[in-house]
Amino acid sequence: MIRMSFSSKNLYDTCPAWFEYKYIKKELGFEDPRHTLLGNTLDTYFDWFYKFNLHSANWKDRLEDDVDYALEMNTEKIPKEDYREFIDNTRNKCLELIPLDVAFLKANGILAPRVYTQYDLEYVYDHPKKSFPIRFLGRADFVLMHNPDDVRIYDGKASKYRHRNVHPEQLKLYALLFYLKHHVVVSQLGFIYWSFPQRPIDYLYVEGEDFPRLLDSCFQTAEKILDKDFKANPAGHCYICPYNGRCKPGQEFRHKSKKSLPVIENDFMLEDFNGN
Ligand code: SF4
Repeated sequence: MIRMSFSSKNLYDTCPAWFEYKYIKKELGFEDPRHTLLGNTLDTYFDWFYKFNLHSANWKDRLEDDVDYALEMNTEKIPKEDYREFIDNTRNKCLELIPLDVAFLKANGILAPRVYTQYDLEYVYDHPKKSFPIRFLGRADFVLMHNPDDVRIYDGKASKYRHRNVHPEQLKLYALLFYLKHHVVVSQLGFIYWSFPQRPIDYLYVEGEDFPRLLDSCFQTAEKILDKDFKANPAGHCYICPYNGRCKPGQEFRHKSKKSLPVIENDFMLEDFNGN
């Protein structure tokens, strides 16, 4: 059965060849761990924050220890000595941001009695007009249930670029899966930007046509995957593709655009090359 998450669908829609390298051939590519360290560490911290009810404990006193432990978990596969300065900077950033983010969560009532973290949204959907089902996979960062009819889903983002890797369709797919699983329409969706505590949230809402449109789009992508349509789509994203060293169309694109392969630094942005 075909399995689909938002990120796998989004990757296929960006470049089918990249999708094939990653999900079909399962080839390893170089991915700089610095790209995700801050986001993963904050995700780990706030997962504990809710799971262990830290907001009712003295979270400030234990903050440094908790951040160190979260960093330790997220740097297990990193040669720490090579990245020491970056890890230390990430630690300082976490210690600076978390108190501001907690104040925001409190001020906006995002400390509801029932908050579920990493909420599993896996669901098998059998489309009445299609000959195959899709096993959807997804984990929502936070699901808040103020009451059974007031459910909200939030996703945390930790890039220093506010809208990097932010796709409204991701949260709308989570809302769709929540609806399919529980027959409850999510009342609010939001992206929380941990690095922007002064302007930390964008809200969005589901509209009537969103669910059928999303399902159609997912099944269209699934049909192409089943047809083994993995044609390369060279564009600006080739500069951050972990497989660009072995992909001929990607190499040709980069050669033609007369840009040498940049060293991937932490502040490297896909948008720089898309001209967005
Ligand atoms: S280098 Fe470009 S064209 Fe090749 S797989 Fe990666 S993103 Fe696709």
